[in-house]
Amino acid sequence: MQVSIKRNQKLIASPKPVTQEGDDEPPDPNPCIKAIPSPAPPDAACRLVRFPTPRALALTPTVRSFRKKYFAGVPAKLWNDWQWQTSHRIRSLAQLETMIALSEDERAAFTQAHTVLPLGITPYYMSLISVDDPNQPLRRSVIPTIHETVSSLGEAHDPLGEEAMSPVPGLVHRYPDRVLLLLSDFCSTYCRYCTRSRVVGHGAIHPSRNRLERAFAYIEQTPTIRDVLLSGGDPLMLGEEKLSWVLSRLRQIPHVEIVRIGSKVPAVLPQRITPRLVRMLRRYHPLWMSLHFIHPDECTPEAYRACAMLADAGIPLGSQTVLLKGVNDNLETMRALMHHLLKMRVRPYYLYQCDPITGSSHFRTPIETGLAIIRGLRGFTSGYAVPTYVVDAPGGGGKIPLMPDYVAGRETDALVLRNYENNLYRYPEICHITNE
Ligand code: SF4
Repeated sequence: MQVSIKRNQKLIASPKPVTQEGDDEPPDPNPCIKAIPSPAPPDAACRLVRFPTPRALALTPTVRSFRKKYFAGVPAKLWNDWQWQTSHRIRSLAQLETMIALSEDERAAFTQAHTVLPLGITPYYMSLISVDDPNQPLRRSVIPTIHETVSSLGEAHDPLGEEAMSPVPGLVHRYPDRVLLLLSDFCSTYCRYCTRSRVVGHGAIHPSRNRLERAFAYIEQTPTIRDVLLSGGDPLMLGEEKLSWVLSRLRQIPHVEIVRIGSKVPAVLPQRITPRLVRMLRRYHPLWMSLHFIHPDECTPEAYRACAMLADAGIPLGSQTVLLKGVNDNLETMRALMHHLLKMRVRPYYLYQCDPITGSSHFRTPIETGLAIIRGLRGFTSGYAVPTYVVDAPGGGGKIPLMPDYVAGRETDALVLRNYENNLYRYPEICHITNE
């Protein structure tokens, strides 16, 4: 991937959102493009589902008081407008200082050091952040600290080796039957542990028609690809027209069976999930989504509503959670998050060991922490609430699942297994006797 990364650059303001379509905007999607048939025509189907309008959306009490305090003249309708939220993101030290009491470690990230990832937080997500506790989980996940500038042994800017596996810029082909297509490098809110902090927020990946057509051409010429994951940056930060064009182009490729979208929008900018967006998305089934939630505090009424709209549009939802020290690295927090997700109709999918990106040591836990969490979930709660714990192997080895060891031993005719309560059971194995 040809991406120029400026190392040691100062904490910078994020580039403009990708919501305004420019010269590079593709033509309207061709209405004749083959889309997977819906059970009913879109208009009729949409009449079956009543989406609450943004005006009807009740705000979480903390969100409401934050809006009153810092955006007093902003009516609810505007606050619930995703483009207003995007253009009013908190992007500078000066803005942060008016809203929270910064710790020394946080302030030093701006005044003494040069962090790679820009600052960007939607007003909505900012309203969920503690004013005076720098250790609050959500605050740790989006406010930079000086620790980001500390490089530890084994860390790398591209630990998953994505750039070496990119046949065209922004397209990662690691596994045999699927590809990852980065649409842009823009997110409404930047996570301090982002695996792609080397590119995200730097204006290095544009959703330009030329680049994307090269990616589509590669997919067209590679019939083994049956699954395309759209990521970035956050694909849902594109305007409806551009995203619809991308989806329709992929739907024109006969061997692409499913398309997935990876997004943190329901957690950081739930206002983005609008009736217009879901009406557009449902035209491109089978469409799946992997949502990024890290803590139960993200599961607000606004997030519930966003997920309900996506689920009601028939989009299967999975979650991806990164295991983060001081954020969610204990059983109680993780169980609460998984239970929220199930209630939001989001199936816990992956629990990721934090990737060893440069400056991530303050977020990374021992592997045993993740195994202990899985051990504490499996058997003690619904199987649907137990994600697969994975390490994305440094160097590009792909996801490797990790499980507590439930095999206690082997006998000649039986396997000795340990259950979730630590009791042992013998499972008789079939012995294949050969007559010689
Ligand atoms: S939403 Fe995803 S891509 Fe964006 S900063 Fe967070 S982890 Fe990175």
